[in-house]
Amino acid sequence: MPQTFSVPRLLINRLREVMAGDMEADTRLQKVVTLIAGTMVADVCSIYKRTDDDELELVATEGLSVSAVHQTRMALDEGLVGQIALSGEPLSIQDAPRHPAFSYRPETGEDPYHAFLGVPILRGGRVIGVLTVQNRTERIYEEDEIDSLQTIAMVLAEVVAAEAPILAASAAQREARPVNLKGRILCDGLGLGIARLHDPVVSPARYFTEDPEAEVRRLRRALETLRGSLERMLASDVSAIFGEPREVLEAFKMLANDPVWAMRLEETVKSGLSAEAAVDRSRREHKVKLENAHDPYLRERLHDLEDLDNRLLRILAGNDGSAAHDHSGEENGDRREVLIARRLGPAELLEYRDSGLAAIVLEEVAPTSHTAIVARALDIPTIGGVGALNSVIAPGDQVIVDAEQGTLHIRPDEGLLDAYETRSVLRTERQAAFQALREQPSRTRDGVEISLMLNAGLAIDLDSLGQTGADGIGLFRTEFQFLVSDTLPKIDAQIELYRNVLDYAGTRPVYFRTLDLGGDKLLPNASTETEENPALGWRSIRFALDRPGLFRRQLRALVRAADGGPLAVMFPMVTIAEEFFEAKAILMDEIEWSRARGYSAPSQLRVGAMLEAPAFAFGLEEVAGEIDFISIGTNDLLQFFNAADRMVPAVSERYDIVSRPVMRFLDGIKQQCDRLGIPVSVCGEVASHPVEALCLLGLGYRALSMPAAGIGPVKRMLRSVDLSAFSEPFREAVHTSNGSFRNEVLAIARVQEIAVSDG
Ligand code: PEP
Ligand code: MG
Repeated sequence: MPQTFSVPRLLINRLREVMAGDMEADTRLQKVVTLIAGTMVADVCSIYKRTDDDELELVATEGLSVSAVHQTRMALDEGLVGQIALSGEPLSIQDAPRHPAFSYRPETGEDPYHAFLGVPILRGGRVIGVLTVQNRTERIYEEDEIDSLQTIAMVLAEVVAAEAPILAASAAQREARPVNLKGRILCDGLGLGIARLHDPVVSPARYFTEDPEAEVRRLRRALETLRGSLERMLASDVSAIFGEPREVLEAFKMLANDPVWAMRLEETVKSGLSAEAAVDRSRREHKVKLENAHDPYLRERLHDLEDLDNRLLRILAGNDGSAAHDHSGEENGDRREVLIARRLGPAELLEYRDSGLAAIVLEEVAPTSHTAIVARALDIPTIGGVGALNSVIAPGDQVIVDAEQGTLHIRPDEGLLDAYETRSVLRTERQAAFQALREQPSRTRDGVEISLMLNAGLAIDLDSLGQTGADGIGLFRTEFQFLVSDTLPKIDAQIELYRNVLDYAGTRPVYFRTLDLGGDKLLPNASTETEENPALGWRSIRFALDRPGLFRRQLRALVRAADGGPLAVMFPMVTIAEEFFEAKAILMDEIEWSRARGYSAPSQLRVGAMLEAPAFAFGLEEVAGEIDFISIGTNDLLQFFNAADRMVPAVSERYDIVSRPVMRFLDGIKQQCDRLGIPVSVCGEVASHPVEALCLLGLGYRALSMPAAGIGPVKRMLRSVDLSAFSEPFREAVHTSNGSFRNEVLAIARVQEIAVSDG
């Protein structure tokens, strides 16, 4: 066991006084280095600050030449200090001048010093400076001294970030400077508000404790609560259906039980820091390692560690570890908030549903796209894939989330804010105009009826059915109930949800899609490491057929929920006819089973499949006569067609759907379905955009299912189109090859005055 050491309590107490005192920034930093040098018996103590142009500037020193302060600047990869800044790791050297990376700076007068110890000053996953001590004599710094210096660096981080003199200007600039970033639209809309950070923020005011012994007890209690919650997750049967996750959870538990982690936290607390500060220090270290790690496996583990730190911080804040309760923005009054998160699971997002969020910004596009789908269900404008948010945004900053264009404006100037406020009002008016269309028939100018249905998956989606006036639910994603709960939903919970949906829909049809798990839709705690290409992997109907217990239970719940009424069921990602037959046979068995036990069979049963695997487009002949309908899942189908992963931003929007190859493919499917007498509809996201939907109508599709936000714009479009007039030039454009196909469609739409704008 490593020898442990706590930062002398006296030093922490004195540091607290210095930090609380009213003084010039320069004076404060000078006092800090003098204090550290004195306590650590070092001949030199210095602070280097990372500047806006990525140099390291000496901003305070005890022991080096005072005249070098604000003069000595080094490149980020220069010298020992640079090495620490780059790696984010401490560095201890017995004889610094002999080290190959040593960079000699005569103006500092550091010739006589040999021993060197430096640690990074970390903030928000970023190295913002370096704290060093040096001694004349050659020596090796002990583990405990390195640890102490790291603790001190954590305490200093906010002071250095906010107050270093060179930054007095640049920090002020940072505060005032507007920043614009690009992201990926996950849920369309506009949101204005002030930034609220999802990850718990520990304010420097809470760094210290008056009573370390009591604080240690508090920390131990929080650790116990954390371990207890992990035990409960392990005891739940979520892991029963995947092979791996139990091991993953076990690993998570092991991390939480790691005595070295707990001991380091305790030692930090014993030195006079609060439990929050101790955990925050651990989190900073994990974060910076994460920033530097490229190996996906290692990144995932570091994410786990950071999640663990965050959970512990939430428990210390007095709640059960869930994110939405960790609300520190009381003073925000009725100003709306924009949630800023590194990444967010769907369950975590649901916890915010009553928080009235104006928008969400995610640093990582979560590997699980259902976070975006939940955001859409909650109708919160969301953008993702916005890098390095932490270093440019602070809680309380004014933010505009333009999830129409995919831009984030941080600390916008007044002019921009005014412009967006106007745009936001216009958008609300537009939405109201769409609402007014609700009662109008979905009929084209030449009298063709189009069925507009809703994609849903959560109870909260049901409100949209009424609000949009949709003709029914064309796709009910049953896996969402599984994805957003910590434990596997019991059969009664499934029956209850399906029954609610059917009751709510009344006479309108509901197409239940059976569990579409696997791929990007992993259950909480399921391992993501097991497959190289999860979209092509063990997922959807493949997974369900290999887990008949789970699948049967769901089918039983559907039959019971229908309660003798009509029932429409479809199987996701059928690739070959045999899969459809096998799944249908299980459903028929379940109906028999239910009937034998006195439950009513559905009065009208419709069994279909989603066409998402291109192979199935060539296997329709084999299911004809046995299948009641096909629903085209373009999200998956087109990612396979274009060989472009829907989860990878660099390729997912690279290939325009409104293109001849896609149109010809969808045209072929429609014609085949017509020939075989199979009703067909489209339920991917494409159906929700007016231009794309117009093309589908041009190909002959008459039933479209889409997210709620698409129904208004698509209805307005179809009510403005004369389909017979549109179809002729459209078909000609599909089968000739004259320049951009999208432009051609837009040109026809313009001439024929078809309302194809999204807004
Ligand atoms: C699709 O793939 O188009 C689809 C509707 O299913 P999901 O988006 O849930 O994969
Ligand atoms: Mg799909």
